[in-house]
Amino acid sequence: MNLVETLGVEIGVRQAGTPAAGRAAEAVAEAFRDAGLEPYFHEFGLLGYEADEPELEIDGERWDAGPCMYASPTDGTVEGRVRRLGTHSIGGFFPEADVFAVEDESGRELARLLMSPFGGPAIPFLTGARQIAVGPAVFISGADSIRLRDLEGVSARVRVSGRFVPGLTERNVVAELRGRSDDAVVVSAHYDSVWRGPGVVDNATGVEGLRRIAEGFAGGGQPGRSLIFIGFAAEEIGCIGSRSWIFDSEVTGELGRIKACVNLDCIAHGERLELMASPRALADRLAVFAGELGLRDRYDLNVGPAGPGVDAYPFHEKGIPAATVSHFGYDEYHLPTERLELIDEQRLADSVEVATLLIESLLEQPVEPG
Ligand SMILES: [Zn+2]
Repeated sequence: MNLVETLGVEIGVRQAGTPAAGRAAEAVAEAFRDAGLEPYFHEFGLLGYEADEPELEIDGERWDAGPCMYASPTDGTVEGRVRRLGTHSIGGFFPEADVFAVEDESGRELARLLMSPFGGPAIPFLTGARQIAVGPAVFISGADSIRLRDLEGVSARVRVSGRFVPGLTERNVVAELRGRSDDAVVVSAHYDSVWRGPGVVDNATGVEGLRRIAEGFAGGGQPGRSLIFIGFAAEEIGCIGSRSWIFDSEVTGELGRIKACVNLDCIAHGERLELMASPRALADRLAVFAGELGLRDRYDLNVGPAGPGVDAYPFHEKGIPAATVSHFGYDEYHLPTERLELIDEQRLADSVEVATLLIESLLEQPVEPG
């Protein structure tokens, strides 16, 4: 079984809350069962969002626009003038990105135009303080954002359309390999994808990596500490699956067992090998293992602290050592053009190997929380 094909091609687009996401959860559970584990679902309630394709015209010309999840709709098509408000960064390795307002004659904001978070094409993404506090917004490409800087006051027509969908449920797929100690290391990858995105790279590759790691450890002896493998749901709408699992684990007291999280996100395509881990002692370990495997010679390697926008981060926020392995920086990110041809087996195998070394070291000796 190869979950890159199952999730990325056979199931394809699998946005949180949709039947396709449900099928993806079943596929992850089946893969865990094939590895000899006994998976179960951690279910949670979800307010979903159904985006329509946004429309944007600048000075009468149609520009590309990607939908912003949980954006409020505009009242039909609105028209105003563009003013640059400043920049925003999600943090971590997300660069500063322009934020523009479209304002009416009285200066009231009608909509926002947000530069794509990595400066690439107009993609579906998230913004705002929280989902419930997002006005009408669309994403524009990095190149268009640069163009727009020189067009202060230009006229814009925007149409944002989308609806909140209450009453949905989503499922994290969990499988534990019991160790000699109750202390546990979480190994995770999110299985959902974005609006119209088949998520072949992001993150069918990470889930396939998770499957291989689970298979490897399940086929070995009993580990010194426990391993909890989790296919997280709903990452693309704000790491909702991991946050929900952490919340419920905190309620039951189970979170106290968790000594680390090792997360895989986009591991088979991209310009750089990104190893993002906190505290520093965890990043140092990852850097050593990457060196031992010769990955410094093979890739442009970046080692840094845990950053937001991935499922490891909510663990980090709880003071749990957390690492993400990722190959990142690619043009097809979050787009329908994430295709099977992009997948580099070498990158995938190397990611699995470096993650496995880190997991083995954590099973022997966790790092102290930072
Ligand atoms: Zn992802």
